[in-house]
Amino acid sequence: MTGMDENQCCRRLLLPVVLMLLALLVGACADGPSGLATTGGGPTSAPPTATASPVPPSPTSPPTATPDPSPTPTPPPPTATTEPTVDPTIFLQQVQANELGWILVLEYHLIEEPGGRWSRTPDNFRRDVEQLIAAGYYPINLIDLARGQIDVPAGKTPIVLTFDDSSSGQCRYLEDGQPDPDSACGILLAAAQAHPQDWQPRATFFVLLDVDLDDRILFGQPEWAEKKLQDLVGWGMEIGSHTISHYRLDQGTEEKIRWQLAVSENTIEAIVPGYELQSLSAPLGMYPEDESLIHGGVWEEQVYDFEAVVEVAGGPSASPFSLNFDPYHIRRNQVFEDELDIWLDYFEIHPELRYISDGDPLTVSIPHPLPERLQGLLAESLPEGMALRQYPLGQ
Ligand SMILES: [Zn+2]
Repeated sequence: MTGMDENQCCRRLLLPVVLMLLALLVGACADGPSGLATTGGGPTSAPPTATASPVPPSPTSPPTATPDPSPTPTPPPPTATTEPTVDPTIFLQQVQANELGWILVLEYHLIEEPGGRWSRTPDNFRRDVEQLIAAGYYPINLIDLARGQIDVPAGKTPIVLTFDDSSSGQCRYLEDGQPDPDSACGILLAAAQAHPQDWQPRATFFVLLDVDLDDRILFGQPEWAEKKLQDLVGWGMEIGSHTISHYRLDQGTEEKIRWQLAVSENTIEAIVPGYELQSLSAPLGMYPEDESLIHGGVWEEQVYDFEAVVEVAGGPSASPFSLNFDPYHIRRNQVFEDELDIWLDYFEIHPELRYISDGDPLTVSIPHPLPERLQGLLAESLPEGMALRQYPLGQ
């Protein structure tokens, strides 16, 4: 509700924002380099991959600490026009909007006892979700990240939860055809019900169709397999491909790669009428030598295409509005032991590097100046129909 109000508020304020932006642009031309003028990359254009760590060592250590940008004097807000509404600059300063910040794409495998390198217990997964809600994270599907269609309330940080290998713990049904409240899909639905303002049922499930372990074929339980896929999509979640058989895309012939991709996509689309599958998790993070094979192709008249492909590691993802963002190589963070805590702590210490929404999916709001690690990274063009809003950082 709050998000929608702020949303409407933002749209109503679009004209003043545009005027302000023009004023900023004019100022930038007169004053020399500005955030807008520094999009050519530069010494700080390194991707947010793991380097030296400010926290205890871990397999995917957070990036080097960046000093907080020093507060800059805020220019006086534009004089009030006829309407006594909240000034858009002040609004953006209040929510600390930064849509060039980083986004966590979490990677889960088994959701079952006991916890381990490849498994998360149901209780720990439930705790992860509660923690994310408390820290202001809001889930979106992977494809929305890839397309830059990020519709989350103002002040919140988008996060993507992904699940590989379609094991039963990710979405188990009870005898009555309802999701097991101790499986991931049940936990996600319960969170959305308990916190309708702060959580929505969004997550991306990369499924397998034919492997030796029955438990990993479309979440086990063949009698419920089709209903689960239809329900997940109906709830708002995303189904992606993990190939038919967990096939290594760096091996085999082009023919086999096309078969794996085309048949997995078309089989799932046939089960969920009207659904367009768009995302792929490359098994073991292996890509075909000819990467154009994952963009799209044909196998025996079955056409396939993908808009988003995830890696198996790499740290937080760049913003889709960053020069560093590649929708065919989206980085993820595996969640095991205290990996998630480490990253949530990291963004507590470095809120300036975290993507924070302005609440309006049609604008990209960024502070000026940007924190050093994000400078020069604004993409040269934004997705169609989207406008840039730059605001003075303030204090
Ligand atoms: Zn896998």
